[in-house]
Amino acid sequence: MNCPLDTAALIASDKTHCWHPFTQMRDWCSDHHDPLVLVSGQGALLKDSLGREYIDGNSSIWTNLHGHNHPRLNAALRQQLEKVAHTSFLGFTNPPAVELAQKLVSLVRGKKLTRVFFSDNGSTAIEVALKMAAQYWQLTGHTERQRFAAFHSAYHGDTMGASSLGGVQIFHERFAPFQFPVQHVSDIGELDPEGLAAVVIEPLIQGAAGMRTWPHGFLARLRAWCDKWNVLLIADEVMTGFGRTGRMFACEHEDVTPDFLALAKGLTGGYMPLAATLTSERIYEAFLGSYDEQKTLYYGHSYTGNQLGCAVAIANLEVFQEEKVLQRLEHKITKFQQLLAPLGELPNILQIRQCGFMAGIEIGQRDGNFYDWRLQKGAEVCLKAREHGLLTRPIRDVVALMPPYCIEDAQLESAVNALKAAIIATCKN
Ligand SMILES: *Cc1c(COP(=O)(O)O)cnc(C)c1O
Repeated sequence: MNCPLDTAALIASDKTHCWHPFTQMRDWCSDHHDPLVLVSGQGALLKDSLGREYIDGNSSIWTNLHGHNHPRLNAALRQQLEKVAHTSFLGFTNPPAVELAQKLVSLVRGKKLTRVFFSDNGSTAIEVALKMAAQYWQLTGHTERQRFAAFHSAYHGDTMGASSLGGVQIFHERFAPFQFPVQHVSDIGELDPEGLAAVVIEPLIQGAAGMRTWPHGFLARLRAWCDKWNVLLIADEVMTGFGRTGRMFACEHEDVTPDFLALAKGLTGGYMPLAATLTSERIYEAFLGSYDEQKTLYYGHSYTGNQLGCAVAIANLEVFQEEKVLQRLEHKITKFQQLLAPLGELPNILQIRQCGFMAGIEIGQRDGNFYDWRLQKGAEVCLKAREHGLLTRPIRDVVALMPPYCIEDAQLESAVNALKAAIIATCKN
């Protein structure tokens, strides 16, 4: 057990040396801000350095699936660690990466995505897809296809390439002069096929946009449009993949097979940074040729095919079967819906958007208008929820609630109650 003194020293040192993502560091470092120091977890719960317990209400930023400290995942990591932690995938291969690739291929309905390219995170999974798509058209004699299209409010990661696709203005606008041009549309009819290499979409629901769901059938219509104009479809399932929507992948809901499937966050059950970009034999074969034809995909990261990551990802997939996770999730999705429904009557909740086992709860003024964004109401609600034992983060004034699948019914009820109490205490007008 850490004593409070350790906590104070840790926080002081953090404030001296760390720079946190998506964080105004002046606020973070102010004397009034007490960061939580998370030290352990069990199932859907996390514990801080002062021994307080919280429900992990956003699955540690959308990554965790089966809970923290899962014996099966822990064992897989330990077992792999006894052999080797990491070896290069450049010029060598390794058993966990091969097994994981094979498992991923057989997991995607239709089994048409036969090739797996590993990288480290959601942003790189998208970068890989972009470069593959761009190079594919060059290699097949369509050098005019030099543009990408994405949707308004889209979020595909923060590296310069992935963020070029982003449609959330406050995140990306600043870098616009450094990014490649992307056509941003809000509907399929606005897409211009001329010179288009690929369209990127978050299937079923846009996460960072504030948990905004697409109309039913939208994804299938986009696939049909891409087929008609011979444009490649990149499905960003970094958030929706691995059961979050109630099916293993969101694309299954509309029977769609994309040309590229980007996976990350839940791939290792929230244990290790690992990503995969799956594509078809059609794309892959265009890159084959003699060395001097220079068709090679010159892309890779030092930790590509990391053995620890792949080993825990395999165990993650096995847990889905062993614990019948998707079957059991059906009940929890219904339960979640039932618990959220009465919240809709609170005067400060404008809308509740649920998709599978994730929800965005949009707060606002009682007259139906949004709060001034400068008030940071969403953040205030989340801070208050912490006092009631719930950890989560807002997207502006949309509070994301998406706990690990292993959460017990009683815990789920506590999570929703904590959020309710926080909203009542925080929103007065
Ligand atoms: C989180 C996320 C990303 C970026 O993943 P990182 O691992 O944070 O780089 C990309 N796309 C979607 C839909 C995401 O939710």
